[in-house]
Amino acid sequence: MDRNESAPAIVIKSERYRERDRILTLLSPVWGLRRVVVYGAQKSRKAVKASLCTEAVFHVYNNKERHQISLVDLNIISIHENVLSSLASSFSAALMCEVIMMQKGEDAPSWYELFSSALDSITEDNYRKVVTQFLIKAVNIAGLSTDFSFCPVCGKAYEEKEILGFSADLASPCCSLCDTMHSVMILPVNARRYIKDSQEAGFAEGLSFIISDNMASRLMRYCIRWYNLANACSLKSAAALLELDNLI
Ligand SMILES: [Zn+2]
Repeated sequence: MDRNESAPAIVIKSERYRERDRILTLLSPVWGLRRVVVYGAQKSRKAVKASLCTEAVFHVYNNKERHQISLVDLNIISIHENVLSSLASSFSAALMCEVIMMQKGEDAPSWYELFSSALDSITEDNYRKVVTQFLIKAVNIAGLSTDFSFCPVCGKAYEEKEILGFSADLASPCCSLCDTMHSVMILPVNARRYIKDSQEAGFAEGLSFIISDNMASRLMRYCIRWYNLANACSLKSAAALLELDNLI
């Protein structure tokens, strides 16, 4: 019953396991989320190659009787060195990994495509836009988004210049009259248009939309809060990223 299996995947978590081993959590369009043991990781070259955000074709040995999957070898697609080249991009990647871990492997092909695109394009200069694009699409994939044409609470069509509020009950942007957050989560017209256009665009196209650093920062913060509210969670890795964003 034992067998060798191969599939593309990205390392989204790497933990120590026993003395000398590691457990990698992989996001794969084929396997979903999968935990793979790397034996003797401290010495092994394989583990060195399989650091966080490494994208590769992973060859594993699936021992079904023992419920254990171990790494045999890997062929690197990209180690995403751009991610490791700055704190901002590393913290951003950590946040994206946390989001993906929370999804428990559902709709893995969509997450893989999104994360792979985000990792390919992230730099120290564009991390706010990359995180924003990632989260806009993350809310969509998780089925928690809204269409930005009609208020999801009262059904009214938004006016052209309307500043949107936020409904805590639906965890969704809504019309200004249905706002229950006392205007702390407002969405001005330009920001609303950016999110709507981004929802409809592919990742690269969305990333190419031109906005100021200031607006990118505000949108990133909005999207993190939106994601937290929509998932009733608090992304732990957001704190370091937002702190850094305050300094840059
Ligand atoms: Zn409304």
